[in-house]
Amino acid sequence: MSARLECQQGDIANQPDIDVVVNAANAQLRTGGGVAGALHRAAGPELERACRPLAPIAPGQAVITEAFGLPNRHVIHCLGPVYGHDRPEAELLADCYRNALELAERHGLASIAFPALSAGAFGYPLAEAARVALTTVQETLPRCPGIERVRFVLFDAGSATLFQDTLESLD
Ligand code: ADP
Repeated sequence: MSARLECQQGDIANQPDIDVVVNAANAQLRTGGGVAGALHRAAGPELERACRPLAPIAPGQAVITEAFGLPNRHVIHCLGPVYGHDRPEAELLADCYRNALELAERHGLASIAFPALSAGAFGYPLAEAARVALTTVQETLPRCPGIERVRFVLFDAGSATLFQDTLESLD
């Protein structure tokens, strides 16, 4: 297991020791439910204003903004695939993680926290989403030497256990 990769229960909007948090965004980069709602509420209205010129984004894409009222330096906004609609969904989901890590690396950010992209309103089954997320991060990290820590933040205990078990099964 990579010492740089960890899975925790928590709220993605409350990760004060992390440089950049990842948003499970919608194409218009507007606030919404789930992760996007939590991050936009905590960041304040400046975040939507900063997002406006960057929208719309396509499935698999990642863009970066300031973090405003959040306790982080930046937010990376990723549009995950809608399960059963945006295909090939596993590749598009992997693109999100790869693009987010490469963007963080280019911006010199040493720590990044991800939610389970696409595993809420977008309907991706959590176990499959965990496997794609963790394998992609493990494959991409060797190309991102500046990233010292990757944290998966899962909202509930069951999801955190599933991510942890998946991570251990990859070793
Ligand atoms: P998507 O639209 O990409 O499916 P969602 O925001 O609906 O994104 O959900 C993605 C995952 O994040 C789901 O597993 C959901 O339970 C979880 N989640 C929702 N709110 C938070 C939060 N504040 N912190 C961490 N995870 C969250």
